[in-house]
Amino acid sequence: MKRLLLFPDTTQIEGDVLTIAGCDLAALAETFGTPLYLYDRATLDHAVEAYRQALAAAYPGPSGLTYAGKAFLCRALAEWIGQRGLWLDCSSQGEMAIAVAGGLPPDRILVHGVNKSAADLEAARRHAGVIVVDNLTELARLAERPEIWLRFCPDVQVETHAHIQTGRAGSKFGLDEKQVEEAGRLCREKGLPLKGLHFHLGSQFREAAPVTAAVERTLALAARLGLGEEWTLSPGGGWGVAYHEDDLPQPEVAAYVQTVAQAVVAGCRRYGLPLPRLQFEPGRSLVARAGVAVYRLGAVKQTGGRRWLLLDGGLADNPRPALYAARYSALPVRGAARPAAGPAWFAGPYCESGDVLIAGLPFPAVEAGEWVAVPVSGAYQLSMASNYNGACRPAVVWLEEGTARLIQRREVPADLLRRDLSLLVNPSESR
Ligand SMILES: *Cc1c(COP(=O)(O)O)cnc(C)c1O
Repeated sequence: MKRLLLFPDTTQIEGDVLTIAGCDLAALAETFGTPLYLYDRATLDHAVEAYRQALAAAYPGPSGLTYAGKAFLCRALAEWIGQRGLWLDCSSQGEMAIAVAGGLPPDRILVHGVNKSAADLEAARRHAGVIVVDNLTELARLAERPEIWLRFCPDVQVETHAHIQTGRAGSKFGLDEKQVEEAGRLCREKGLPLKGLHFHLGSQFREAAPVTAAVERTLALAARLGLGEEWTLSPGGGWGVAYHEDDLPQPEVAAYVQTVAQAVVAGCRRYGLPLPRLQFEPGRSLVARAGVAVYRLGAVKQTGGRRWLLLDGGLADNPRPALYAARYSALPVRGAARPAAGPAWFAGPYCESGDVLIAGLPFPAVEAGEWVAVPVSGAYQLSMASNYNGACRPAVVWLEEGTARLIQRREVPADLLRRDLSLLVNPSESR
């Protein structure tokens, strides 16, 4: 079944039920409730290995991987990042706090952000090894540590939704060529440790060619800046994944890494530059396919010729279909091999017409009370989840070799009240 290829590597149908890492999804839904998010450790590990092997095969210089934490971050994931020897990209003091709680030392923490607050900069000074500068105002606020990289906007377009383009002229992200040169001058004058150049073109693209154009422009700049023998080039992240069976085959990490690595080697030769440390910065392509969302089907109804499957989650835990028309697929947790009985529309319980997770997916006949598993749910879902309509954010479970461990408990209404203060109750009484 082609749809099964979207699920984590350890997914099987045993008897009649979907299993991941040897864990029965029906039993997990029963135990932990729904909506439930699952992460398969083996799939996470394989994704890291794919990048590492491709880098080892294609790039003769030093290299590494930074995980872009905004795709999904919690304490347990930060611990996994530490175990795997990855660096972590944080974009706020909040993400840095999670990184530190997960045991990551400063030389593994890198900080991004277009408008870093005073608190973010202070957290970066204490907890991070690298800060990636977005603008000249920010640069003027920095001191001798952490190490500085400059975010260059190379004016290159990738094939993706307009909302997730970040590398074109006029983007809110980064410095243009003149500003990078100005920043280089300022760093020399003030004795600041400028050690790298970075760009990030956008997200969920599957053609590497635009990245090579950006590498070319960045190396031309590097040659003018004089970064010394030991410097880092980060081509950002953004490599796409398949979300729907129509998107298969999976975009190949090896081909992407090879194309970028070859462009760096050729460009360095042309400009007489030493090979930089090549530091990729993937988010989605590391975690998306390791994650699965499980929902309970509360009701089935027909309106205007459509079969609606009403789930207990949607917009509040996954805003991507509403934000940029992301397309998903799904399987029933039991009886996944049943033939399709026509198209189905999957909607959540929230008060927005845009709360439609999946539109028109061929799907078997299912009944209220069944569970539905949505693959490729590991990136930009929980990290963008909200409490809209008083939604309590889902529980998250880590699956590894037949064991399931809760790594984030489900929110409860008391969590929603934790920050609230009363106008009516005297503060001394409320204790
Ligand atoms: C979001 C982001 C990434 C990761 O993007 P993915 O599409 O998840 O791979 C990398 N670098 C920066 C600066 C980002 O903003």
